[in-house]
Amino acid sequence: MLGEKILQMLQEEISKTEYERYITNLAYDEQNSKADEAIYIAPNIFIANWVKAKYRHKIAKLFKLQTGLDMSIQILAKKGYVENNGAKEQYPDLPANSSTKINPTYTFENFIVGSSNQFAYTASLSVAENPGKAYNPLFIYGGAGLGKTHLLHAIGNFNIKKNRIVIYTTIEQFLNDFTYHLRNETLEQFREKYRQCDILLIDDIQFLSGKERTQEEFFHTFNELHGHNKQIVLTSDQHPKKIAGLEERLKSRFEWGLIADIQLPELETKIAIIKKKCELDGIYLDNEVINYIAANMDSNIREIEGVILKLNAYSSLVGQRIDLSLAKNVLSEMQKEQQKNVSLKDIVDIVSAELNIKPSEIKSKSRNRQIVNARRIVIYLARTLTPNSMPALAQFFGMKDHTSVSHAMKKVKEMMQQNEEFKLKINELAYKIKNLTCE
Ligand code: ADP
Ligand code: MG
Repeated sequence: MLGEKILQMLQEEISKTEYERYITNLAYDEQNSKADEAIYIAPNIFIANWVKAKYRHKIAKLFKLQTGLDMSIQILAKKGYVENNGAKEQYPDLPANSSTKINPTYTFENFIVGSSNQFAYTASLSVAENPGKAYNPLFIYGGAGLGKTHLLHAIGNFNIKKNRIVIYTTIEQFLNDFTYHLRNETLEQFREKYRQCDILLIDDIQFLSGKERTQEEFFHTFNELHGHNKQIVLTSDQHPKKIAGLEERLKSRFEWGLIADIQLPELETKIAIIKKKCELDGIYLDNEVINYIAANMDSNIREIEGVILKLNAYSSLVGQRIDLSLAKNVLSEMQKEQQKNVSLKDIVDIVSAELNIKPSEIKSKSRNRQIVNARRIVIYLARTLTPNSMPALAQFFGMKDHTSVSHAMKKVKEMMQQNEEFKLKINELAYKIKNLTCE
């Protein structure tokens, strides 16, 4: 069979150890593969992720050589086959938010609650328990990787168990669906589908921005469901008021129910989340390593998970225990990688937008207190988030020499030590910069 033959052909391209450790563990899923899609099943999520990262493109290339087709290659973890409403669902190949499937591990039980997400968690739970009755719509917003999609799926999972009809969709999917039915003149079918659900979960609503036709259709869907007391839950990276390019009538509807935000998690919450993920994925990490990751990584939980998976894959590949030095290496490698993506212009733009001053003022000679303060912050962030040296930064900001940069750094560090609120603001800015530039 071709699917198996391709794997054998991989032997020529990778080392024997890699082949034996990863490739021989894959099974070709003949039953579910299609002419343009090959599905392989890995024994667990780590091997699946590893194969995806390392060999998927090689597999695709071999298929192309053999068939001339650009096939989609899926690597799924074995335990991921779940029965959902009698239909076979595949999970977890795609990240939750890029598919319309509900991830069965994103439950309330698996969600760690801390003060940063307590409000959003409680609101989600009460909506899950009383759909259409508690708050409608529920609007959850917060930065990337802080658990919005997880909560949305948790509401979904909770209600699937109660045999309620749940639709989870991204804006992109909603748009595709709509366009498809529009083209086929089957809009009635489209509307019927949404009308029939009990709970509509829409992720990343900010992507509605500027899409007028979709907004129009979504407006009707919203009214229809809301009018029939069907629960609507929305997520976004920002408060509805702040989403640019969104019709006022939608913004005001999003504020009808309850708006709940998720803040950056504190250290203890991060530690608890890491422990939970390790427990779920069967990974063992020393407390020392867990504390190190929590203290040194940014608040994006998705990235923290990425590090855990990477550590685990690396350790199984080279047969080395996951210890502090391995963790330090992997983290610093990742941070270097991230630094390459952040530009000084991004930092200037983001900080000046947040602090309400003009980007040009940052580089000016103005001694206005607010501007001096913003300039210091920019310099501090530039030094910590980019690989630029102090002399290089002095040159960029038109300063005499590196002593001015070093003075600004010292000042910001002092202020961070003295003022908790200032420190939080700096961390939030750093988080914004990294997430805006890395996504
Ligand atoms: P968002 O949609 O806000 O970008 P996700 O919901 O996709 O973020 O979360 C990213 C990852 O972090 C997911 O794997 C999710 O399970 C995990 N995560 C985030 N917050 C928590 C939490 N409080 N407890 C457990 N896992 C969490
Ligand atoms: Mg999400």
